[in-house]
Amino acid sequence: MRLATRIEDLPPYLFLDISRKIEQQRAKGVKIISFGIGDPDLPTPRHVVDRIREAAQEPANHRYPETDGLPALRESISDWYKKRFGVTLDPAKEVLPLIGSKEGIGHMSFCLINPGDIALVPTPGYPVYSVSTILAGGVPYYLPLLENNNFLPDLASIPDEIIERAKVLWLNYPNNPTGAVVDLDFFRQVVKFANRHDIIVCHDAPYTEVAFDGYQPPSFLEADGAKAVGVEFHTLSKTYNMTGWRVGMAVGNSSLIDALTRIKSNLDSGIPQAIQYAAIRALEGPRDCIDDHNAVYQRRRDLIIDSLSRMGFEVKPPKASLYIWTKLPSGESSASFAARLIEDTGVVVTPGIGYGEGGEGYIRFSLTISDSDLIEGLNRLEKWYAASKRRNL
Ligand SMILES: *Cc1c(COP(=O)(O)O)cnc(C)c1O
Repeated sequence: MRLATRIEDLPPYLFLDISRKIEQQRAKGVKIISFGIGDPDLPTPRHVVDRIREAAQEPANHRYPETDGLPALRESISDWYKKRFGVTLDPAKEVLPLIGSKEGIGHMSFCLINPGDIALVPTPGYPVYSVSTILAGGVPYYLPLLENNNFLPDLASIPDEIIERAKVLWLNYPNNPTGAVVDLDFFRQVVKFANRHDIIVCHDAPYTEVAFDGYQPPSFLEADGAKAVGVEFHTLSKTYNMTGWRVGMAVGNSSLIDALTRIKSNLDSGIPQAIQYAAIRALEGPRDCIDDHNAVYQRRRDLIIDSLSRMGFEVKPPKASLYIWTKLPSGESSASFAARLIEDTGVVVTPGIGYGEGGEGYIRFSLTISDSDLIEGLNRLEKWYAASKRRNL
């Protein structure tokens, strides 16, 4: 059997070692406590699930959906953007529902990348930006997100010959995994950069609604001229605890939306209609469920920050996202630290190297863990860390 080389060119799956260690510990009867995956543990709001149940009974919803979604869904996405960000979107041309935003992000590279083209990709970062670039025959050029630059890319440092070959700049704020946020002024500078160098901007924005202390993250499309240079991806996954239902959206530049619709119409047949109706109910429904979820995450954030501070980690509470990103004080590799932690305690954290070279030396804690597990996990971690420090003295 001979597979395509693009399969061989894929980067290795960096969490394989961690998955094996988890299995080994489980087999020994250890209760695993995971700060690993960013997948909301809280359920989808009741009114949304009720709508899926209702819509599932309708025979009209048992048939093929349209790739570009129900007009009513496109309209409620447009209304939601207007209400939340003051951004005006034409529901016919500037909005495309997605089978989760991951799907749209992956397919977007096939709209933009010719063989040999460069995509500017942050490191650390969500792996789909670089992997879809590679699958489309392109080459990722990695932009380090450094803590001393507030985890922003340094666009001025990109060499001219790279900029010439670059087709697209991928960004993600509030950021996974670093938890960093940006203000509208940063997005204005990005629009300038995109215009100056004829580069398309794809902003991945799944965490604009997961924010704390009253902070409201901006949309890229709020920056003047953003719609002329790019698109934004959003998703109901994190906003409404709907990761399992698979529904997201691309919004912005009509030529890019059109290209993505054309690629998708040849590869998928859209989002099951009952789920589209549920998405409409979520987007048009009350926002207090979002506030309730954020209050839970904020409490968990503070518990983790307190614990890490007691242990001597330097860590600031993030204003948004589901993650706490912290530098290992010891200089140990992130994979080795995470492996030792599982073996010794059954506690799982994500090693930063899983998000690319720029993540080395860091670990990520996710806030999507039940309160009781979180408290037990932090207890185990603190005891273990104190003991291993004593051993090293
Ligand atoms: C969760 C996540 C996504 C994907 O969400 P979908 O469930 O596919 O909509 C995309 N980007 C980032 C950075 C994420 O953390």
